[in-house]
Amino acid sequence: MHAAIFHAPNDIRFAEVETPKADDGELLLRVRAATICGTDMRIYNGQKTKGVRTPSIIGHEFAGEVVDVGRGVRGFAVGDGVSMDPVIPCLKCEYCKQGRENVCANRTAMGYEFDGAFAEFIRIPATGIASGNVYKLHPDTSWEQAALAEPLACCINGQENAEVGMGDSVVVLGAGPIGLMHLQLARVAGARQVIVSEPNAKRREVAASLGADLVVDPTTEDLSACVKARCDGIGADVVIVAIGLPVLVNPAMQLVRKNGRVNLFAGFTAGDTAVVDPNLIHYNEIKVSGASALTRRQYEKSLRLIEAGVIAAGDLITHRLALADINEAMQVAASGEGVKVSVVHE
Ligand SMILES: [Zn+2]
Ligand SMILES: [Zn+2]
Repeated sequence: MHAAIFHAPNDIRFAEVETPKADDGELLLRVRAATICGTDMRIYNGQKTKGVRTPSIIGHEFAGEVVDVGRGVRGFAVGDGVSMDPVIPCLKCEYCKQGRENVCANRTAMGYEFDGAFAEFIRIPATGIASGNVYKLHPDTSWEQAALAEPLACCINGQENAEVGMGDSVVVLGAGPIGLMHLQLARVAGARQVIVSEPNAKRREVAASLGADLVVDPTTEDLSACVKARCDGIGADVVIVAIGLPVLVNPAMQLVRKNGRVNLFAGFTAGDTAVVDPNLIHYNEIKVSGASALTRRQYEKSLRLIEAGVIAAGDLITHRLALADINEAMQVAASGEGVKVSVVHE
């Protein structure tokens, strides 16, 4: 089969490799959609190294068609359309027992420990089938929509950590694919208004079309003044930081009101540190949370929201590039000229 092999940062090569087989308890899928995640770009740029093998196949947002069913697998047949929560929990560690399987101490994941989806075929390990990480698709759900259930589920995790709810004023910093998903989820959660800050004009347009109440260009406008003006003069209930820039952390805490919540959703470059005013957290009683991966519950919720048409996930795909052009696809994704990039097979 053809696959994009990650050898080292900035070195992904389209190559012919042996097609995997479904062993006992496993499934083999023909990849029908694989989308590029911010994390894939951070691996590509060398900003993320944890858990990344070389050489390996990355890509963890995918959907595909079952082409081979290993011995002992029940509930799946050749021809089924499926998608997968790529983070496989051990179900035994302290975190799994506490319902925080997204931070499982022994988690394994597609695109990391197991070869990922930037390939013609992908082998689903038995542990991932046994744990219920594989979902059959609704016939009306497109492959690409289903692939996006993973990033959307990660956003659901962030919104749950930030306790986004009915009547909240929510500010989203960044209108990349993740910021745009947060915008839509905040709407679904009952936010009274969502303000999106984004320097890229095209992305601001998309945010407006997806229902942002106010879009701000932080390079020419005073974001803090815009937020205060719309939020009773005291700031937002929630700020979601959907760009991994440490310099945004302190300003994000200045945008929320007392008792407000700040979610550091985007990952930062390994080793980065931020200067924060601790009194903002202390006197204002701000709650700062993070976001790591997703749980099976959140994945299922995400897939159902997409199936129901509540979240317009497919609309976020702006570019489709062939697997053979994986390097170009990574560059397009990193350039910010589009929103979400899908890797397709000719
Ligand atoms: Zn992802
Ligand atoms: Zn665990």
